[in-house]
Amino acid sequence: MTTQAVLLAQGNELTTGLTVDTNSNWLAGRLWELGLEVRRVITAPDRRDDLVEILGQAATLAPVVISTGGLGPTRDDLTAEAVAQAFGWPLQLDEEALAQVVARFQAFQRPIVDANRKQALLPQGARVLENRWGTAPGFSVDPPGGGRMYFLPGVPREMKPMFDAHVGPDVLARNRIAAPVTVTLRVLGVPESVLEEKMRGLDLPGLEIGFRTMLPENHVKLRFEHDVPAEARAEVVAQARARIGWRAFGVDSGDLAQVVGQALAERGETLALAESCTAGRLAGWVASVPGASRYLLEGAVVYSNEAKVRTCGVRPEDLDAHGAVSEEVARQLARGIRQRAGATWGLGITGIAGPGGGTAEKPVGTVHVALAGPQGDVSHRRYHFPGDRERVQLLAAAGALAQLWREVGGGAGGARGGRGRDLTQKYMFRPMLPWKAPG
Ligand code: ATP
Ligand code: MG
Repeated sequence: MTTQAVLLAQGNELTTGLTVDTNSNWLAGRLWELGLEVRRVITAPDRRDDLVEILGQAATLAPVVISTGGLGPTRDDLTAEAVAQAFGWPLQLDEEALAQVVARFQAFQRPIVDANRKQALLPQGARVLENRWGTAPGFSVDPPGGGRMYFLPGVPREMKPMFDAHVGPDVLARNRIAAPVTVTLRVLGVPESVLEEKMRGLDLPGLEIGFRTMLPENHVKLRFEHDVPAEARAEVVAQARARIGWRAFGVDSGDLAQVVGQALAERGETLALAESCTAGRLAGWVASVPGASRYLLEGAVVYSNEAKVRTCGVRPEDLDAHGAVSEEVARQLARGIRQRAGATWGLGITGIAGPGGGTAEKPVGTVHVALAGPQGDVSHRRYHFPGDRERVQLLAAAGALAQLWREVGGGAGGARGGRGRDLTQKYMFRPMLPWKAPG
């Protein structure tokens, strides 16, 4: 039987809309990968009576309970007190926890105050979970009934490594779960519904398929029971990838900028960008990858018509005739920036991010992307992205990068198999609709 879990996210900031509960979302994904089933996801404010009630119930619902938040030094951090009250254990100063808190403060040469000592007050019988990423230690307790409850800090960058270091391994060992193997296919520009369709019939005993949207990407997660042989896994992964085609840009890889960057570096090629509606967003994304200087030569923000003319040599008469948001101008931006920078590839992006500026002919979300290549060829695509300004900019940057990926990695002669094996050509010519928002 599948081991069940309850997730609890605590904090007034969650129930007043100040913070989005990303912790539960992340934990749910991790638990799925480990082969557990989440029975409840509970969000509650920092109110002691509610917490006491919820903790008592959670202990009866599932053998694994994971709570985040409320471990800090302030008065609204009530977790340890609520646990103590829920199960009738006294709070006591835990020497191990105190030593960890003191050591953290010494390492940062910060004076320790009484409030920090409070972080070492744990319910009797609790086991400390060391926090090497922040000050508040976590802990676990074993409530009546045979389960175990884990308490982690709310700050995601502390919570995640603590889960991986302490909680995940303990959950597997204690519940005798043989961890499945999860492989993530990273996909750009294929809607989740289409992915689901494509994975239909991909059957293997011990295989579960999950889908996740993380704008601008979609992920296909293939979860194999521990006893599926490696060759059978590899075969399914290859099949899944072939079904999606070149838009499946990575398997357990980094994001598109990393994958494209690596391909450019391997090929010894370079890139220059002329961005209008994305205003440097693509350059920032490409440069977020360490070592991007090997291939990123230049990124120009050519917002005004004058800038397009001055920097990329766009012809004023074409701007007049077709408008700044047009195939013609995108092509000239790509060609112009490529020449100016002396790069292998030039990308030009022009579009209407909105919310204003749309017309019936060129509605908000219209984006033209052109890619100038080493043979003097320029390819072009017109997109219509749904959503607000932020989303249109993000999808435009991603669409542009995908166009380049098709040439340097996913398309003809690329590292990932030729165009002949591409089963999803039709998606290349469709607007990349409709991508779902994350969460
Ligand atoms: P601290 O020692 O920082 O006080 P804590 O365990 O007490 O840690 P909280 O005070 O509950 O944690 O939350 C600290 C911060 O962590 C919050 O202000 C919020 O930014 C973030 N946070 C808390 N819970 C969540 C959550 N469920 N999802 C995303 N972020 C969260
Ligand atoms: Mg706090």
